[in-house]
Amino acid sequence: MLVADRIHMLGTRSVHWYAVEDGGRFTVIDMGNPKQWPQLVTLLDSLGHSLDVVEAILLTHAHPDHVGNAEYVRVESGAKVWVHPADEAMATGEAPMRMPPSIVKYLWRPAVFRYMVTAMREGAMKPPPIRELAFFNDGEELDVPGKPRVIHTPGHTPGSCSLHMPQRSALFAGDALATYNPFTSSIGPTLLPDLVTVDMVEARKSLERLVDIKAETVFVGHGEPWTGGVLEAVQAVRQTAPAGG
Ligand SMILES: [Zn+2]
Repeated sequence: MLVADRIHMLGTRSVHWYAVEDGGRFTVIDMGNPKQWPQLVTLLDSLGHSLDVVEAILLTHAHPDHVGNAEYVRVESGAKVWVHPADEAMATGEAPMRMPPSIVKYLWRPAVFRYMVTAMREGAMKPPPIRELAFFNDGEELDVPGKPRVIHTPGHTPGSCSLHMPQRSALFAGDALATYNPFTSSIGPTLLPDLVTVDMVEARKSLERLVDIKAETVFVGHGEPWTGGVLEAVQAVRQTAPAGG
């Protein structure tokens, strides 16, 4: 689905990812769950392209519902897969993501149960490890389609990053914030809960790194794009309870 100027949204209700076009070349931001990669092929096919137009896959963080099967697309297209160094071990499968045992306490919630079942069905329990990675760091402007600038926004994971494309007035926030909480089904800007966020205090602090970003649209991993500006999105998150759900 085309959601903004040459920005396509992929994924399902539970997780979104993006393909950004620039002069016939593509940057893919996150890849959803492992079994969602064919959506990228379908999109490119509908535009008259094949996978080899993918130049870069940028991972906002290395959780399995964002890494997806980036490895397959990397091998098939020759694209580089980028991530922040602090999430390297998760991306290579050396230190896989673990849900805290407290997850069982939440499974009675229909939204949580549904989310877990979808994640399992779409392969999130077994993300293919990435065999070759490139790394980005805070403040870097990447010479890839869309020319994103990296803002390190740790908390959800140590290597969580947001990507700003000033020319598109777009911020890709990954899970630094969400507009849908799949664990409660609530809609509106929020932090994802401590079930999946390693450091809630740091996550909240990282929002302050975003307030000065000039962008109309905030594209997130979970929920619909927010079109009311970055500052307004952050302000809405600030009003949520510290536990974030
Ligand atoms: Zn995540």
